[in-house]
Amino acid sequence: MCAMWSAHHTTSQSYVKEICEFGYGICKKNCPEGAIKLVKAVAVIDQEKCTQCGTCIEKCPRNAIVTL
Ligand code: SF4
Repeated sequence: MCAMWSAHHTTSQSYVKEICEFGYGICKKNCPEGAIKLVKAVAVIDQEKCTQCGTCIEKCPRNAIVTL
């Protein structure tokens, strides 16, 4: 898993990998910015709202969220 995320890092973005198909919603519940929504049980990150805090990456039990 990439550890490049940072609140001060402005060029990277968080993405949800294809293995996110379980609809846990843990990422959505823990996102402080309300940047994650579930579309057909798959998490989608609103890049306009995401501050790259890394919380969703830490919380996901499937390691489905990565920073590129
Ligand atoms: S990195 Fe932080 S702000 Fe961005 S989607 Fe994940 S929890 Fe929300």
